[in-house]
This record gives sequence, C-alpha cells and structure tokens, in this order.
Amino acid sequence: MNNYPDFCYIRSSDYPAGAILPRTQVRISPDDRGFYFADGVYEAVRTYAGKLFRMTEHLQRFQRSLQAVRINLPDRHNLKQICTELLQRNDLKENDAFFYIQATRGTAPRNLLFPAPPTLPTLYVSVTPITPPVREQSTGIRVITVPDIRWQRCDIKSIGLLASVLARQSAADAGAEEALFVRNGLITEGTHTNLFGVKDGIILTHPLNNHILPGVTRIVLLELCQRLKLPVQETAISADSVYELDELFVTSTTWEVVPVIAVNNRPIGNGQPGPLTRHLQAKFREHCLATIEH
Ligand code: PLP
Repeated sequence: MNNYPDFCYIRSSDYPAGAILPRTQVRISPDDRGFYFADGVYEAVRTYAGKLFRMTEHLQRFQRSLQAVRINLPDRHNLKQICTELLQRNDLKENDAFFYIQATRGTAPRNLLFPAPPTLPTLYVSVTPITPPVREQSTGIRVITVPDIRWQRCDIKSIGLLASVLARQSAADAGAEEALFVRNGLITEGTHTNLFGVKDGIILTHPLNNHILPGVTRIVLLELCQRLKLPVQETAISADSVYELDELFVTSTTWEVVPVIAVNNRPIGNGQPGPLTRHLQAKFREHCLATIEH
C-alpha cells in the first residue's frame, strides 16, 4: 500500500468536468480506445524536490505526439496546473516524484475508425514518489541487444509498448537491466532510455529521427556536453562496433545517467563505469537543478 493519498486526475466521458480521485476509485470504461487499440499517447515527467523538471519540453513533446496521432485534447493547456494540484493534494511538494500523463482517443464502441465527434478524449494523470536508482547509477547496468521490432514512428510516445514489454522482459530473463533495440545493424535506443557511447573522447548518440524517442534527458545531456565543451557526434552506434567503445551509458527521466558495463555479457571498456560517464553523472544533477523552472 502507498503511504500517500494517491490522488489522480481523470477527465473522460464518465468524468466530463474532470475529477481528482484516489487511484482505486478511478474508473475507465472497457470501451476506452486505449484498452482496445492502445490508441493513445503518454508523457512522463518528474519533479526534483517538488519542482517540475523541463515541463516545457515534456509538454511540447506531448503535443507533438497528440498531433501526430490526431488527438485533439481540449485540456492540454491545463496540464501544468493539474500536475501542481496533484503535488499539493498528494502532499508531494517537497519530494522527487514521477508524473504519468496519458491521453487516449476516448470511449466508443469498438471500431478502428475514429469515433464520431464529439467523442471526448480521455486524460489520466497520476503521480508517484520516486527514489533515485542509486544502485544502477553507481555500479552500472548490464544490457542485451534485441531486434527492433517496433513500428516506424518511435518518435511518437505511443502507449502501444508491446515490443518494449517483451524486450525488457527478455533482458530481465537474461539477468540484464535494459534491452537495446537494433534496426538495420544499428542500435537505436533502449526500451525506456536513449543511448550514448564514448570513443576516443567523442560522445556518440543516435540522431533524432523516426527510429528513436526524442528524450528530454537526451536534450539536457547534449546541453551539458556543450557547456562542458565535450565533442558530440550524432551518429548511430552499430551493434557490431559497440564492444569497441570506451564507455557506454543510457539516459532517461528517472534514471538520469546510468553507466552500461556490459552488452550481451561482453564488457564495455574495462567493465566498470567509465570516467567521462562518471563526470557527466556528477555534472548532470548540478545542471538539472540550475536549469529547473520555478
Ligand atoms: N526512449 C524511449 C523509448 C523511452 O520510452 C524513453 C522514456 O520513457 C526515453 C527514450 C527517454 O526519454 P526521457 O529522457 O524523456 O525520459
């Protein structure tokens, strides 16, 4: 059981005015298109000590996802206010917390065609306290590679995550903490992380295109590299050459910067988190807190 009230926000055809309710009382119809078709998009945002981190970038990405799948969410402009209210109602104003924001095309009888207007999209927002992934950040993680069987629009933060579910479970079954997707011989990203390599002092990461999610942490990391005058090349790392890298790490909202010490049981570098990764980890938090919105 959670030891905080766990109030969530729901606005759907069952709650047209929007409601803040304990999570266990929120009801979503089985006719919700998210349930039938994964017909929706989501966003994941965090706070540092009660302050929303890079909300502008997250909201931009959410709006981009909504537009790409043609969901017109009437209350998209209220999201910051909803999040702030949830922090208050859940007494999380001083904590590190994680927001899950999901919108679907709404509730209608099962039919692939868009439902007739004025079907109201469903909006659901929840918040949970988080603790830093200290173990992953300090010792680093092991990863596996898997074929990237996802669709061709990985830049959209779709709630259809079956390929990622299967990949992440394969990683766990192999005693690893993350799976990296490989498409046409190139590593695209992890199931919930972007990937960075280091070779001869140059930081490598996949360029932005339809094969990766444009991670907000990726933006922050690239800003940090610029500030530290570290050379970056936005070039994909091939699945064959990954073992020759000096260092490897992944980034995400909740993990921040996590070193990768082995791929498919083969060590990266000397099998320990690399020095540049350590440096970026240390500077990352500083940079985050310095650039947080108030
Ligand atoms: N790539 C994928 C597929 C993801 O699902 C995520 C986050 O959920 C990321 C990358 C990292 O994105 P962010 O840094 O915005 O958390």
